[in-house]
Amino acid sequence: MPSAYDALLDRLYDVNALNMSIWIMDWDQQTYMPPGGGEARAEHCGRLARMAHEAFVSDETQKLLAAAEQEGGDELAQATLRVVRRDMAQRTKIPASLVAEKSGLASRAHEEWVQARANDNFAGFAPTLDRLFDICRQEADYLGYTDHPYDALTDLYEEGATKAGWDAMFDQIRQPLTDLTKRLGESGNQADNSFLFGDWDKGAQMAFTKRLSEACGFNFSQGRQDTAAHPFCTNFAIHDVRLTTRFLDELTSSIFGTLHETGHGLYEQNSPIEWDRQPLAGGVSLGVHESQSRLWENIVGRSKGFWKTWLPELKKTFPAIGDVSLEQFHRAVNRVEPSLIRVEADEVTYNLHIMVRYEAECDLLTQKLKVKDLPDYWNAKYEKYLGITPPNDRQGCLQDVHWSGGSVGYFPTYSMGNLLSFQIWEALTRDLGDGEQLIESGRLGDVLDWLRENVYRHGRRFTPKDLIKRATGKELTADAYLAGITKKYEAVYGLTAGV
Ligand code: ZN
Repeated sequence: MPSAYDALLDRLYDVNALNMSIWIMDWDQQTYMPPGGGEARAEHCGRLARMAHEAFVSDETQKLLAAAEQEGGDELAQATLRVVRRDMAQRTKIPASLVAEKSGLASRAHEEWVQARANDNFAGFAPTLDRLFDICRQEADYLGYTDHPYDALTDLYEEGATKAGWDAMFDQIRQPLTDLTKRLGESGNQADNSFLFGDWDKGAQMAFTKRLSEACGFNFSQGRQDTAAHPFCTNFAIHDVRLTTRFLDELTSSIFGTLHETGHGLYEQNSPIEWDRQPLAGGVSLGVHESQSRLWENIVGRSKGFWKTWLPELKKTFPAIGDVSLEQFHRAVNRVEPSLIRVEADEVTYNLHIMVRYEAECDLLTQKLKVKDLPDYWNAKYEKYLGITPPNDRQGCLQDVHWSGGSVGYFPTYSMGNLLSFQIWEALTRDLGDGEQLIESGRLGDVLDWLRENVYRHGRRFTPKDLIKRATGKELTADAYLAGITKKYEAVYGLTAGV
């Protein structure tokens, strides 16, 4: 007779099969599905999601989980049971009626948000947003928390994260980042990036970005890249990881988009194959996942060493870029400029955008801020942190999709990813030697090996906090990030420290 643990894994394999069907259909929807397929796809995915949920929270699964916990088992079994128990608690604490209400409201809210953004009509979206935050408050109550409702919600995305923890993180970076942004702006040494704009051949971009991804170690016999309106990475198994990119007027948009998704993809492709389609496979949290996309996109991808190899190839593929020097190109792809739109923000100002959203959602959750006052609040924060005021709500508080889906507690994981990418890089270069040298000499395979050994191969085995300690020797702080970007951008902008 199989053990309860084996029976549980088999049961979870059914759930995995249902979920992966949904993910494949979602990938297809965002890449190839004709617009006419939308209604059928929503219905099919909705039904499959219900079946997956019911199978997961069923009495049978719960009994097997309890029995397997009784059995004990080795350390890996314990780790597996811990993550399944955590997933189970999240899925069962919130009543099905509230889940249904939220998902119905979220799909309506999405349509309303699209309209409101197109027409710059915040008032048209405000009542629904108000209701969504109301549901989030109820969710927090069901999930439970000690200090702040935000704790309950953010833990869904980043295990162990709390508002107090995020506050401490933002307190470390708020002033240094606003100061650095200001100093770079006042340097009078803005980089020219005009040569990056043009009508670039899409096929050539697809081929070139795939070469870059491959150079970082992405395995295209176990993955592929397609195009999507909003680039993302998804996976259906360790040996089936899908990247997407998009082609805009700025040539580097597809390049850095691909490198970003490649970082996510490498994390997934390098999970231990013996955990494939099981609970421990894959990335441990959103913040740790984002550290990998940012590491490959920014630390590797925006370095001079990387482009020493690839700029000659880029010029060969896109001669219209002209005879730019390595120095010019490096400055252009590291241009810092306060802007209104988060997804287009550079490495320095990006976290300031996140901070505005984080502060807004905390205050909306506690009702310290009323939804109707959000536009003024938002604009004042942009003026304060970035020195610019959005001329309308379309480019202001209506720009992001997250709140219309009822996702509250998610944004800080982006900043965490930025900070952690530097802390991981610091640990990596302590072992492997000077980072710039490492990249310039093409030792990206060594970089990947280190990340596989210290991050990727652990999947969800440890909590995010434990994983960070194991990989870097300490808890997450902003030290490596602040030191790293200050040094980099003072060099890019020809400033010296303190001037
Ligand atoms: Zn990402």
